[in-house]
Amino acid sequence: MKYKLAEMVKRAKPGMRRRAIVLREIVPPATLATDLYRSTYARVVQAWIGALPRIEAEYERTLAALTTDSPADVQAEIDGAAEQVNRLLLLLTPDLQTWALRVERFTRERWRGAVLSATGVDLGTLVGVDDVRATLETHIGWNTALVRDVSDQARQRIGNAVFDGLRNRTPAREVAKTIREAVAMSRRRSTGIAADQLSKLSSALADERRREAGITAFELIHSKKAHPRAGHVERNGNYYSDVPGDVGREINGKTLLAPPEDRPGQLPWCGCRSRSVIDLSD
Ligand SMILES: [Zn+2]
Repeated sequence: MKYKLAEMVKRAKPGMRRRAIVLREIVPPATLATDLYRSTYARVVQAWIGALPRIEAEYERTLAALTTDSPADVQAEIDGAAEQVNRLLLLLTPDLQTWALRVERFTRERWRGAVLSATGVDLGTLVGVDDVRATLETHIGWNTALVRDVSDQARQRIGNAVFDGLRNRTPAREVAKTIREAVAMSRRRSTGIAADQLSKLSSALADERRREAGITAFELIHSKKAHPRAGHVERNGNYYSDVPGDVGREINGKTLLAPPEDRPGQLPWCGCRSRSVIDLSD
């Protein structure tokens, strides 16, 4: 805990009768997911798309020569493309850093705004980027691994299509179609990952800001997504406490529960969020 927001609120408003204040949740805009996708994942997908004409031409040539026992040239094309993508991956770290910092700044400003409008307390420079550097580094590393995985999977699928094709003497046009579908799949997977990563980073940052302020209770808000986890819908509106000793206590007429093992926004595609509950009762 870096500061105790409840104490600051009580000092700022000595006559206040309210026992608890619920802060609004922080919803990151979808454009931040698009930014992540465009600045990193899309470039890797694009690099593979750029390599496809050479791979397809080499496949056609190999098939025509019926030299299926030595498909080394197609393999060399795929390896060459993979090498290019690997060089690109090394260049993506600064873009991932820029993205993470933008998400951090957005969530920090929203946090400050939520606290100010609900309590009248301006956190000002009390909250800064340095407090969450470790979280940002974790998510930058996570995305580096995910981009690499998207690329590896594309390479694998292209390779499978090519070598299955050579074995079965599949016409070049059909193989080209399979390869393009494989890359399209990588593209779809990437846009999903980008949205999910935004949700994960922003909920991790929300957790940190809450811990920092000494707030241990939160309300869970369901994502209202089209295909929710049944258990998550039921959690909507529940109050949870990170302090085991507080479980069972009442705030705002709600009983504090032990938090679920999967925190809001943590499981894949979980868009659940949390609202910080400032306990002013003691
Ligand atoms: Zn959820």
